[in-house]
Amino acid sequence: MTSIKSYAALKAKELLVPFQIQRREPGPFDVVIDIQYCGICHTDLHQVRDEWGGARFPMVPGHEIAGLVSAVGASVKRYKIGDRVGVGCFTDSCRQCSPCKQGLEQYCEKGMRQTYNALEKDGKTATYGGYSQKIVVDENYVLKIPDSLPLDKAAPLLCAGITTYSPLKHWKIKAGSKVGVLGLGGLGHMAVKIAAAMGAEVTVLSHSGSKKADALRMGAKNFVITAEPGVLDPYAAYFDLIINTVSANLDLGAYLMLLKLDATLVAVGVPEHPVSFGFFPLIQGRRSLSGSLIGGIQETQEMLDFCAQHGLSAEIEVISIEKVNEAFERMTQGDVRYRFVIDLSTLA
Ligand code: NAP
Ligand code: ZN
Ligand code: ZN
Repeated sequence: MTSIKSYAALKAKELLVPFQIQRREPGPFDVVIDIQYCGICHTDLHQVRDEWGGARFPMVPGHEIAGLVSAVGASVKRYKIGDRVGVGCFTDSCRQCSPCKQGLEQYCEKGMRQTYNALEKDGKTATYGGYSQKIVVDENYVLKIPDSLPLDKAAPLLCAGITTYSPLKHWKIKAGSKVGVLGLGGLGHMAVKIAAAMGAEVTVLSHSGSKKADALRMGAKNFVITAEPGVLDPYAAYFDLIINTVSANLDLGAYLMLLKLDATLVAVGVPEHPVSFGFFPLIQGRRSLSGSLIGGIQETQEMLDFCAQHGLSAEIEVISIEKVNEAFERMTQGDVRYRFVIDLSTLA
């Protein structure tokens, strides 16, 4: 075991504090990663505040991890010391079930092993995330970060990037598709960039008036301030796909009405409280409401390579680890453009 530094919430809703954790010695298939940067996903906030139930404490959050390989187990084939690598939302899965065999490990029937807030293979040790100096991960669940992507701007791709890339691919977004992005935050801004790079016409549906210039610069064609009366009218039956990244409840019925016949609104944001809505918007246009969870390992690598090829990465504000609680608070207020990323060298 190696003892390392981290930041943890010791109880639900508490501030994060310095915390010492143990990482296992690398097994034959393990890669040891010196974490350089870790993005702050809104999920970290939901989990630290136990908004979804089932949170385990002490909790070291962080699943947008970018770093350098510092050691490898004897049988590791894919990575060597010094490689630029990433780890996302999970670090293992059963590898046997139908979703795992299809590269859809995020939907593992036995449950993927979350990077934090889960138990290691021994069934006893808690998994701890990327607000820490090092992590030890089986090589099959490690991603290669292309050389052209800076590690700090690449870190958020490991969750925000793949969570938006995967539904865009699944619903076959291509040149000319009309995509609506609800919420321009960490996920939303990556959805805009990736969808635009796929050739889609992107419309941002935002409750903030001040993000228009950013949205257009990122590749959106239209920007709608959803709070203004009548603004949705021109978009009735307009979109092929709407990705809802909002972390709060919305009037879903109103947004479903913006879908074309047979089109889909896909939920990726997970509000604290259940949503209720009537079925008429679904029935009237044979529309679908669906959901999507991150993406598989192979697809995550594909997304990283796609971003490198198109020169895409996250827009970030790099912070030192002592600022993490302040960043959480600012995120609660919606004051982030567009992802906080922790510089883990400040933990030393
Ligand atoms: P974020 O950076 O905080 O962005 C959320 C955005 O939602 C905000 O920027 C804001 O955009 C909008 N918003 C926030 N509060 C709102 C309100 N009260 N009313 C209307 N709009 C509001 O969060 P994130 O990291 O992108 O994560 C978004 C959600 O996705 C979270 O619930 C997170 O847990 C979830 N998530 C899901 C997956 C998955 O696999 N499905 C993966 C990662 C994260 P505007 O200012 O533009 O309106
Ligand atoms: Zn996340
Ligand atoms: Zn499985």
